[in-house]
Amino acid sequence: MERAVIEQLGSRGRTGSQDFARQYERMARLAELDLHGDSLEEVLQRIAEVAAELLPADRGASVLLWDARREAFTLAVSTIAGQDTRDVVARVRSEGGASRFVVEHLDQVAVHDIDHDPFGANRLNEDFGVGAYAATPIVLEGRPVGVLYALEPEPRHWSRDDLAFLRTLAERAAAAIERARLAQEAAYQRERAEVLAFVANSLIGVASLEETLQTIVDAILAGMAADAVELRLLDGQRSGLVIVGPEPIRDPRQVELLAAARARAMDARFGLVLPGEEAAAEIGAPVGSAVIAPLWSRGKTIGFLAALRGLDVEDFDGDDAALMSALANQAVVSIENARLFEETEEALMELSAVYEIVQAQNREVGLEQMLKAIAEVVASALPALRVSIGVLDDEDFEIRHVVTGGQSRGIDPSRLMELLDGIVEGGIPPTTVPVPATEDDGPRLVVPLVHRSRNVALLVAEREPEAPPFGAHETEMASVMGAQVAVAIANSLLIEETHRLALTDALTGINNRRHLFELGVRSFAAAKRYGRPLSAVMFDIDHFKQINDTYGHAVGDEVLVEVAERARRTVRDVDVLGRYGGEEFVALLPETDLERGTTAAERLRRAIGDTPIETSAGPLEVTVSAGVAQVAPDMDDLADLIDCADQALYAAKHGGRNQVRAFAEAIARP
Ligand code: GH3
Ligand code: MG
Ligand code: MG
Repeated sequence: MERAVIEQLGSRGRTGSQDFARQYERMARLAELDLHGDSLEEVLQRIAEVAAELLPADRGASVLLWDARREAFTLAVSTIAGQDTRDVVARVRSEGGASRFVVEHLDQVAVHDIDHDPFGANRLNEDFGVGAYAATPIVLEGRPVGVLYALEPEPRHWSRDDLAFLRTLAERAAAAIERARLAQEAAYQRERAEVLAFVANSLIGVASLEETLQTIVDAILAGMAADAVELRLLDGQRSGLVIVGPEPIRDPRQVELLAAARARAMDARFGLVLPGEEAAAEIGAPVGSAVIAPLWSRGKTIGFLAALRGLDVEDFDGDDAALMSALANQAVVSIENARLFEETEEALMELSAVYEIVQAQNREVGLEQMLKAIAEVVASALPALRVSIGVLDDEDFEIRHVVTGGQSRGIDPSRLMELLDGIVEGGIPPTTVPVPATEDDGPRLVVPLVHRSRNVALLVAEREPEAPPFGAHETEMASVMGAQVAVAIANSLLIEETHRLALTDALTGINNRRHLFELGVRSFAAAKRYGRPLSAVMFDIDHFKQINDTYGHAVGDEVLVEVAERARRTVRDVDVLGRYGGEEFVALLPETDLERGTTAAERLRRAIGDTPIETSAGPLEVTVSAGVAQVAPDMDDLADLIDCADQALYAAKHGGRNQVRAFAEAIARP
C-alpha cells in the first residue's frame, strides 16, 4: 500500500518533473519566439516548427490561413516532410481532406473537443495515414481565420498541457497575423498617401487637362492596386471625355459594374465602394469590386472617377473610397483650372485683338489703310470669313466707303455696299446683333460702331453658309472690339480734320500761306532740277479796303470767299492756289511759262471781275490786279519767284488796276 502510494507518488513525481521540464522548455521557446519576421509566412513557419518539436507530433505541424468570405486558403505553412506550402494548399483545395475538414469546422475545432476526440483518429487515418491530430483555431477579433494543427503517426490523446501549449502557439500566430495585417494596412495607407502626393506633385508641371487627368488615372492604377481606372466627364464642352488606364474597359461585366457604380454615385457627394458580393448580386455574375467617386463641381455631378478590381483580390474598402474622393476633388480642381485657363486664353485673345486694333491705329497712315488692317484683325479673331467696315458720313448719314478684311477676293463691292446700306436703312441696331444664316447668306454679326453716342461706322462679320452662327461669347467679343474700332475711326477722322485745318485757310478753304509755301517749295525745286517752267501769279483785290469800309467786314469776308472760290474753279488741279495774306492770293502753275502764265492770270482776272459777286449787301463789282513771274536760273528759292510776281503786281496796281502784268514787262516799264 505504502509502496503503491510511493510508486504512485514517485511516478507522479517523475511525471511531474518531466512535465515541468517540458513545460519549462515550452515557456522558454515561447518567450524566444520571435514574432518579428520579414514576412508572416516566416513567423508562422517558426510557430509550426516549435509545435512540431515540442508537441507529440512526429508527422509535423501546419498552419493554414483561411479567408471565409472567399472560401479560400490565403496561406499555408507546414513542417510536414515532403509537403511544401503549395502542395498543402493545392491538396486542400482539390481533395479536401483533414485540413479542409478542420478548416471548414473551425468554429467547432476547440481544444476540449479534440480532447474528447470529436472527429476521430480513424477518419484522419483514412485521409492522411496518421494516427491522431490536435488542432486549434487561430482566432482574430472573435473570428476563426485559420488553424494550427499537429499530426501523430500513431493513435493517441494529447495531454491538457499539450493542448494548452498548442493553443498558446495559436494565440501567438493570431498576434503575428494581426501584426502583419497592421503592417500591411500601414503600407497600404502609406501607398495611398504616396498616390496623393504623387498626383499633387505631378500636377505641378502638367500643361493640358487631358494630361492632368491621365496622371490621376495612372496614379490610381499604380497606387491603389486597381485593374482598371476610368475617369468620365459628363458636363459642358468636355462631355464625353473619358480617360482610362491601362486601357478602355471592354469586358461587358465590368462595363455593367461601372454603370451600376455610376448609378449609385450619381447623387453622392463622396466616394463609395461597391463590394464584390453586392456587385455580383446586382449583375448576376461574379465580378470584382468597384470604388467610385463623383466629380462634384458647383453643385452638380460633372463626371466620375472609378476603379475596378478583379475577383481574386481583396475588395476596395472605405479608405479607398476616401482616397477616390480626394483624387476626384483633385480632378475637379484640374478641370476648373483648365476651364479658367481657357477663359484666360480667350480674354487674352480678346485683349491681343484689341491691342492689334490699337497697333493698326498707330501704324497705318490714313483711315482706309487702318480700317483694312482692323478688318483683318477682327476677321481672324472672331473668326469670320469676311469683315466689312462701312464708314458713315457725318452729315447725310450714309455709308461713305467700305473696306473689307478676310476673304474679300471675288466679292462684289456693290453687294457689300448694298448690304451695309440695307442695314443703315433698316435702322442701325443699338448693340451687336447676331443674324442667323438664311438660304443665301451665312451667319452674320452686325456691330454698330458708336463713338460718343454717334454712329461713326458699321461693322459686319460674315461666315460661310454652313458655318456655326456667332455665339454669345463672339458677340460680346465683337462688341469689345467694336468699341475700340469706333474710337480708332473717330480718332482717325479727327486727325484728318485737324490735318485739313492745319493746312487750309479757315475763311476761304484754300491752302493757307504756310501750306502754299510747303507745296510751292516742292514745285520750285522740281522745276529747277528738271529745267521745267513754273509760273507764279499773285493777285490782289482792288480797293478792298473800300468794300470793308462801305459794307462792313462781314461782306468783305463774303467777297474774299467768293474770290477764292472763283480762283479755285479757274485753276487746274495741278496748280497750287493759296491765300498769301489779307486779300492777296497766289497761284503756282507748274509746267507753265510766262506767256501761258499770263494767259492764266488773265483768265483769273476775268473770272473774278466779269461777273458781280452776290453778297448780303447785294451784287458787288469786284476786280483784281495780277502779277505774273516765271522761274529763272538766277532765282534761289520760291520767295524770289513770288517776290518777282509781287513786283509785277505792283506794276499792275500802278498801271490802273484790274489788269495783269508779267514780271519782264513790269521791269521793262519804268
Ligand atoms: P489796293 O489793293 O487796290 O491798292 O487797295 P486795297 O484797299 O485793297 O489795299 P490795302 O492792302 O490797303 O487794303 C487791304 C485791306 O484788306 C485791309 C484789310 O483790312 C483788309 N483785309 C485783310 N484781310 C481781311 C479779311 O480777312 N477780311 C476782311 N473783310 N478784310 C480784310
Ligand atoms: Mg487790295
Ligand atoms: Mg493788299
